[in-house]
Amino acid sequence: MPRPIHATVHTAALRHNLARLSQAAPDARVWAVVKANAYGHGIERVFEGFRAADGFGLLDLDEAQRVRDLGWRGPILLLEGVFELRDLELCSRLGLWHTVHCDEQIDMLATHKTNVPHRVFLKMNSGMNRLGFPPQQYRAAWTRLNALPQVDEISLMTHFSDADGPVGVAVQMAVFDTTTRDLPGERTLSNSAAMLRHTTPFHSASGHRETHVASDWVRAGIALYGSAPDFPQHSAQQWNLEPGMTLTAKIIATQDLATGATVGYGSVFIAKKPMRIGVVSCGYADGYPRACGTGTPVLVQGIRTCLVGRVSMDMMTVDLTPLIDAGVGAGFGSEVTLWGRAANGVVLGIDEVARCAGTVGYELMCALSGRVPVLEAD
Ligand SMILES: *Cc1c(COP(=O)(O)O)cnc(C)c1O
Repeated sequence: MPRPIHATVHTAALRHNLARLSQAAPDARVWAVVKANAYGHGIERVFEGFRAADGFGLLDLDEAQRVRDLGWRGPILLLEGVFELRDLELCSRLGLWHTVHCDEQIDMLATHKTNVPHRVFLKMNSGMNRLGFPPQQYRAAWTRLNALPQVDEISLMTHFSDADGPVGVAVQMAVFDTTTRDLPGERTLSNSAAMLRHTTPFHSASGHRETHVASDWVRAGIALYGSAPDFPQHSAQQWNLEPGMTLTAKIIATQDLATGATVGYGSVFIAKKPMRIGVVSCGYADGYPRACGTGTPVLVQGIRTCLVGRVSMDMMTVDLTPLIDAGVGAGFGSEVTLWGRAANGVVLGIDEVARCAGTVGYELMCALSGRVPVLEAD
């Protein structure tokens, strides 16, 4: 028998989340962002769930090829554009739209031989200071691009640094709007956080009404996979998002501890009273964060309990007291849900687990290890 651990990608949940996000930006077309192998879910596995998207956004050219291989004829946007001249040949061949964020990319376009002009998304650095032309150089870049025979339509793009927090998007919006006011072309600004918090009227906890972002295209990532971009201000459930992935393992042994007994490496957990623990077939080599300590939530037979002691490479240990108290037998072979939805329907949000490791849902999804088999389900 294979080691009892697997992940499940929930096609119906992905479909639901896409519909939910489309609803949040009813006037915009939606890129389903599938970079990093669809945030760890696998491009081929999410494709069916995201088929209703208007386009796919990603970074790697081989991922673009995979989306085309799946039969997708619609738009694909390279979110970081090309990295070297010959990437442009693939853009021409596969009909990829690409971001242009620096002069070097314009130089490459100028030397690229093609008879199919490209659609490009000219990126502005409106304050994030990662990719893009600063506002004072943006119009010159636009003019340069516009003069190239290799360029067809120019769309306008920026990215928010604080759409998920108290700073919000107002300052970057103002910079972008001022600079692009009389430029033609479609606009794309929002990621998941901006879509949920700033596209439809949103009132922050202080009652302050947030800036309203309107654009032609939105770039939905994390929320499509069922994680809240602004956790813990909102949970995925509060945003009406469903987990796109469940990570499931089993109890492969139990131990009865006497008062004072310790568990695992470093003996960091000490039993304060007699208790039973379960040993789970999941560890950090499966992508579960080692930084999660005692108290991190976990579901056994769909009942919430917690980790005790350190996560090791292939195993972790959980407290079975809540199951015993509830009169639920939890022994060898019991189902353990590390995140996602248990067989009884109870959900443990990936964001909650991520927070216990001092990180975000994004990182956990992307870190799912290659040794974990992934199934698809509805
Ligand atoms: C990853 C990415 C997104 C999606 O962001 P989420 O926070 O996952 O919604 C949007 N735009 C760009 C440019 C990105 O790189």
